[in-house]
Amino acid sequence: MKKYFIKTFGCQMNHSDSERIAAYLEDNKLKPASNPEKADVVVFNTCGVRQMAEDRVYGQIHNIRKKKQKTKIILTGCLANRKDVQKRLKDKVDLFFPINEFEKLENFVIGNSLEIENLKLKISAQKISHIQESIAYLSINPKYTNNFQAFVPIMTGCNNFCAYCVVPYARGREVSRPHQEIIKEIKALIKKGYQEITLLGQNVNSYHDSKINFSQLLKKVDAIPGNFRILFVSNHPKDVNDEMIETVTSCKKVCEYFHLPLQAGSDEVLRRMNRKYTAKDYLKIVNKIKKAFEKNKPGKLFSITSDIIVGFPGETKKQFEESAEMMRKAEYDMVYFGQFSPRPGTAAWKMKDNVSKTEKARREKYLNEILKKTTSENNKSHAGKTLEVLIEKEADEFYYGKTRTMKNVKIPATGKGLVGKILNVKIAKANAWNLEGKLN
Ligand code: SF4
Repeated sequence: MKKYFIKTFGCQMNHSDSERIAAYLEDNKLKPASNPEKADVVVFNTCGVRQMAEDRVYGQIHNIRKKKQKTKIILTGCLANRKDVQKRLKDKVDLFFPINEFEKLENFVIGNSLEIENLKLKISAQKISHIQESIAYLSINPKYTNNFQAFVPIMTGCNNFCAYCVVPYARGREVSRPHQEIIKEIKALIKKGYQEITLLGQNVNSYHDSKINFSQLLKKVDAIPGNFRILFVSNHPKDVNDEMIETVTSCKKVCEYFHLPLQAGSDEVLRRMNRKYTAKDYLKIVNKIKKAFEKNKPGKLFSITSDIIVGFPGETKKQFEESAEMMRKAEYDMVYFGQFSPRPGTAAWKMKDNVSKTEKARREKYLNEILKKTTSENNKSHAGKTLEVLIEKEADEFYYGKTRTMKNVKIPATGKGLVGKILNVKIAKANAWNLEGKLN
């Protein structure tokens, strides 16, 4: 029996795609291998956001080829469509398939006799004609890698063409999944006891399946009976409207957590990034979200997080200071920083990457200090409270979990079998980057 191994790099969307690729291969009678060396087929689901992640893929493919000539190597994800990558790896990779061209994988599986008795699972356009072909693969019943937290893709692709981003080239334009199919998948997960559902998409809040928008979808998910949490990533500020803010802050199962990527605090940098909002627009949204949480969930803690790129081409010290200023005003609970890295094929690839590595690192460190102050301050409000925590893992006699505000909590472990459960935890201590507490 043939065996497969999948190496996944990058974002949650890639992890979710890998769960569907695994299910497809297993439905075609391939078995999972414990490591790439034992596999007949190795799938690389790649990320093109940073050069470092890209280099790791080249290194690992080279190692497999050196050791085993016969292994079939398949490459998907962000790098699959890039001509320079295809040229570089043409003698090492057997198939390049962008995820929105899933039929290339099907044809490869059939053409290489990797399957035993398949075809029943060929996701042909006729069989699911109601779904656009580029997202037909999302209808595959995935092989979830976690038994209490699940990622459910609701859309894929992006129309925004932010100057630094590869997604619109790697995944194509936005396509939304039919809401009936999403609800069916979530209902089945809740029936199996899943505690946390994350709705996924490059731009979840521009979801539209021609009948309902993101807010309406969120209400439908919230109405599914059961005790579970709802999260969603990622948003674009330009698609956040009053209806969405009202829905997110009032739906009971939706966590009190809003991730809103800023990317830069300077209007000039935002314009060159092609982000389509100003710093003032952004801050207005943040303030509306805060007010709406206070109105709709009075007394409940909430958190706001973001993504910021430092050292975008041409970012002056003054423009950078505007990002710092925005961080002080927004008082974030977490920010995921990225030092600008030029990606081939994007608009920013042609811009002059004129902020040195040292200066990028300095800017990130500077912003991180601001973050430390706001998280320390915000975390204090959690101390002394009893909060719902989803226990995610147990290690070295501690449980590690997350509150509904997505704060990490460390708890002394008492007893076994609590991983995957939502439990009440009394928060005893608030640190800058995590909370400490005891089971109530
Ligand atoms: S919104 Fe911008 S950053 Fe996000 S996926 Fe689309 S192009 Fe990339």
